[in-house]
Amino acid sequence: MIRGDSSGVPLRKKLLTVLIIFLFITVISLTLTFIALGIQSSVRTYVAGEGMWSKAQRDATFFLELYGRTRNQEYFKKFEAALAIPLGYRSFRVEMDKPQYDPAVALAGLLAGNTHPDDTAGAIRLYRCCAQISYMQRAIDYWKQGDQHLLQLQSVALALQAEIGKAIPSAARIKELLDQVEAVNESVHPPEAAFTASLGEAARWVTDLLFLATASIIVVLVALGSYASWRILDSIRQSEERYRTLLNSASDALIAIDRDRGTVLAVNQRAEQITGRSAHELVGSRYADLLPGPQLGAAATPRQSTNFVPVSPQQISHRDGRKIPIEVNYSTTKWGSHPAHLAIIRDITERVHAERELRVTANALANMAEGVVITDAARRVVSVNHAYTQITGYDQAEVIGKVPRYPVARHNDLALFRSLWKTVRKTGHWQGEVWNQRKSGEIYPELLSVSAVRDEADRVTHYVGVFNDISAFKDYEQRLEHLAHHDALTQLPNRAAFEQQCAKALERSLRNRSQMALLFIDLDGFKAVNDTYGHAVGDQLLRTVGVRIRTCTRGDDVIARVGGDEFTVLLDNIAGPDGATLVARKLLDTLSENVQCGDHEVSVFASIGISFFPQDAGDVPTLLTYADRAMYEAKNRGRNNYQLFSPSMAGETSSRLTLATGLKQAIERGEFELHYQPCVTLPTRQIASVEALLRWHHPEQGLVSPATFIPLAEQVGLINAISEWVLATACEQGMAWFRGGAAPVPIAVNISARSFWDPAFPSKVAKILADTGWRPDWLCLEITESTIMNQDQPEKMLRELHAMGIRLAIDDFGVGYSSLSYLKQFPVQYLKIDRCFTSGIPYDASNLAIAKAIVALGKSLNLKVIAEGIETQEQYRVLREEGCDEGQGYLFSKPVTAGEMERLLRARLARTASAEESVVH
Ligand code: C2E
Ligand code: MG
Ligand code: MG
Repeated sequence: MIRGDSSGVPLRKKLLTVLIIFLFITVISLTLTFIALGIQSSVRTYVAGEGMWSKAQRDATFFLELYGRTRNQEYFKKFEAALAIPLGYRSFRVEMDKPQYDPAVALAGLLAGNTHPDDTAGAIRLYRCCAQISYMQRAIDYWKQGDQHLLQLQSVALALQAEIGKAIPSAARIKELLDQVEAVNESVHPPEAAFTASLGEAARWVTDLLFLATASIIVVLVALGSYASWRILDSIRQSEERYRTLLNSASDALIAIDRDRGTVLAVNQRAEQITGRSAHELVGSRYADLLPGPQLGAAATPRQSTNFVPVSPQQISHRDGRKIPIEVNYSTTKWGSHPAHLAIIRDITERVHAERELRVTANALANMAEGVVITDAARRVVSVNHAYTQITGYDQAEVIGKVPRYPVARHNDLALFRSLWKTVRKTGHWQGEVWNQRKSGEIYPELLSVSAVRDEADRVTHYVGVFNDISAFKDYEQRLEHLAHHDALTQLPNRAAFEQQCAKALERSLRNRSQMALLFIDLDGFKAVNDTYGHAVGDQLLRTVGVRIRTCTRGDDVIARVGGDEFTVLLDNIAGPDGATLVARKLLDTLSENVQCGDHEVSVFASIGISFFPQDAGDVPTLLTYADRAMYEAKNRGRNNYQLFSPSMAGETSSRLTLATGLKQAIERGEFELHYQPCVTLPTRQIASVEALLRWHHPEQGLVSPATFIPLAEQVGLINAISEWVLATACEQGMAWFRGGAAPVPIAVNISARSFWDPAFPSKVAKILADTGWRPDWLCLEITESTIMNQDQPEKMLRELHAMGIRLAIDDFGVGYSSLSYLKQFPVQYLKIDRCFTSGIPYDASNLAIAKAIVALGKSLNLKVIAEGIETQEQYRVLREEGCDEGQGYLFSKPVTAGEMERLLRARLARTASAEESVVH
C-alpha cells in the first residue's frame, strides 16, 4: 500500500469511492431502464387490453346477433362472456378514477379483462402516474366514450333476451334490436381507433421522455463520476510523485528486490548514483550481480517483520571501477503482492575516511615521542599517550579524571600558570617551559604547549597538552654554556668569560673604591715542548699550569686561559702593587718547577705582565692590552720575569691601537690594494702563477707592511673580512685580465690562520668563486706551515677545499717543525721554501742543505717545490740544478700593481707565441 498522501485518505478508500460512483451510475442506469421497460410493459398492457376488449366487443356483437337470429341461449352466454372483458376494464378504470381507489377492485377489473397477472401492477401504476398526462388523458377519454356503447349493447342484449324470452317473440322487434346492435357495433370502432392512436402516442412520448431522462441522468452521472475519478487519480498521481520525491531525496540508496527471483524491482536516484547505472539498467537485473547481499530468493527465510537486518560494511563496484565502501540493511516487505527485500545502502566513504584519519591520528598520538595529555574543558584528563606514561611514570588509569598538577613554589611560578591559562583563553595556545614531577618524585623540566580545542559554537571542549622532557636538552644547554665560557683543556674560563667577570669585578671595585691587578702570563718554551714531545704532553703541561696558577691565587681570583699558552689572572681587591708582585713571583717560582708528563719531565718558564685598576686604565680591554704589553716587555727582558705596565710602554701600544682603528675603516675607505708577484718555472722562467700580496695605503703612515698589519688584523678580529676582500679582489682581477685578453693564470692568495680555522671558510670561498666566475683550479690558497700545525684537524679543512678543486700550498715551509709523515696526509700540491733558506744559498751550508732536503722531500711526496725570495742568478742556478720546480723573487719580478701585471701577462702570451724562453728579464 502506498502511504504518504498529504490528504491522509488511503488510496484504497479513494479507489473504493471511484468504484461506488460507477456502481451508483450503473444502478441508476439500470433502474431507469427498468422503469422505462416497466412503463413500456404497462403501455403494452393497455394496448393489449384494448385489443382484447375491442375483440371481445366485436365477439359480443357477433354472438348477440347470432343469438338474435338463432335464439340459441348458448350464444347469449358467449355474448355475456365476451362483454365481461370490456366491462372488467371499465370497472378497473372507474375504480382508478376514484380519489381513494381500491386496488383489489382495480385488480379484479383487470383480471376480468383477461390482463396477465404479471402486468396488473404495471397497469395500475401507469394509470395512477400517467393518467394526468395529456396523451393518456385523451386515450382514457376515448376509452370512456366506448362505455356508452357497451351499456347500449348491454341494454339491447337485455331487451333482445326479453323479446326472445317471450312466448311469441316479435321478429320485427328482434330485427329492430339487431339493427341497434349493428349500429352500436359501427359506432364503437372510431373511439377504439382513437384510443389506440392516443395510447400509441402516449407510449412513444413516454419512451422519448424516459430515454431523454435516462440519457441525461447517465450523462450527468458519467460526467460527475469522471470528474471524481480524475480528481482521485490526480491525487493518486500527486501522492505518487511526492512519494517518489521522498524516495529520491533519500540520502541512502534504496533497492527493492524480488524475494523469489532475486531481481531488482525498483531503485531510487541515489541507487543510480552509487552504482553508476541507470534505473533502466538496474530494474530487472540480478541483485546478486550488484552485491552478494544476504541469501535472497525462495530459499531465504521469509521475514514478515519490517525490522532491518544490518549487514557488515562491504563494498559496491561503481561502473567507473571505483569501490565504494557501503553499509547495507535488509528488510523484508511486500512489493505490491510480491514478497520482496528492501536493501538500504548507505555510502560510508566519508565515515571510512574519517575513521581512517582517526586511526592515523590515534596511532600518531600513541607513537609520538612527545607526551600528550588531553583534558576536558574542566581540565580533567580524558586521555594520555604512551610517551606520557614513559616520561611521567603514571599510566592512563592513574590520571584519568584527574586535573594535572605541577609542583609550584620552588619550581614553577604560580603567575606562570595564571598567564598560561590567560593566554590559552585569549589566543588558544601557549608554549613555554615548566617543571613537572614524575611519579618517582623526580622534578624535571619540560617544554609544554597547551592548545584549546573549540566546537562550532566556539566553546572550549578540550585542552591538548604536548610536552617534551627537556632534561637532556637542559644539560646540553648547560654544557654548551660551560663550553662557551670555558677552555676545554684546562676547564678554566676563556677570554670572553674572563672579560665578563673582569667587567663585573671592575664595577664592584668602582663601588668599593678598591684596587685590582690583571696578570698576563705567557709560557716560554711551550712551543718547543709541544713540537718535541707532541700535543698530548703539551696539553698535560697546560692543564698542570692551570692547576698551579690556581694554587698561587685566592679562591675568588679569576683565572683564564686566553690563548694557546697564555693565561690571565684577575686579582680582585688587592692592597697595592705589592700584592700583585707577590703573586707574580709565586707564579714564576711555581711554574718553573719541572712537570712530569707521562715518561717525560718537562719544564717551562713564564713571562708575566701586570696592569692595575684604576691606576693604569679604567676598562677591561685596555687593562688587558697593557698587561699584554708589559708581558712582552718581560719577554724582551730575558723571560721568566714579570713587568709592571708603565706609561712608557703605552706609546707603542697606542700607536698599535691607532693602527687597529684605522684598519677597521681601511676596506670601506678603499685603502687596500693588491699587488701581484709572478712565480716562474725554473728552467724556462715562464710565469706559472701569480701571488696576490696585500698593500695598505695608510692615509698618514703611508704604505704599511702586511707583516705588521696582518697580525694586528688577526688580533682585532678583522682578518676574516680582509681575507674575503683579498680573495674576491684577486678573483675579480683574474677575470678582468682574462676578459681583457690575457692568458688565464693561477692566482695564489695567502690565508691567515684565523680565516683557515673558520668552519664557514670553504663556503665563503665557494660563494666568491661562484660570484666572480673564477675557476677553483685557477686559485691556490697559501697556508703557512704553523697555521696547519696549530690546528686540531687541519686535514678536514684541507680536504674540503681540495674537494672543491682548489690548489693548496704550504707557505714559509721549513721554519716550523712539521712532521714529515704528518705532511703526507694533506692534499697539498705545493711547498714554498721560506725566503730565509733561499737567502743563505749558496754560501750557508745548512740553509743549502735544508733547501736541498725540501726539494727532495717535495719530489718524494710528489709535490711541486717553489723557492721564495730568489734574488740572485746564483740562487736561481743552484735551485734549478737541485730540481726546484718554480721560483719567486726579485730576480724575476718584484710585486707589481694589477696594471703592470696585466702587461707582463700579455707579454708572456706574446712571447709564448714567438717561443721565447723567458718572460721576465
Ligand atoms: P709571503 O706569503 O711569504 O710572501 C712573500 C713575501 O716575500 C712578500 O712580502 C714579498 O714581497 C716578499 N718577497 C718576494 N720576493 C722577494 C725577494 O726576492 N726578496 C725579498 N726580500 N722579499 C721578497 P710582503 O708582500 O711584504 O708580504 C709579507 C707577508 O705578508 C707574506 O709572506 C704573507 O705571509 C703576508 N701577506 C701578504 N699579503 C697577504 C694577504 O693578502 N693575506 C695574508 N693573510 N697574508 C698576507
Ligand atoms: Mg705567500
Ligand atoms: Mg712566504
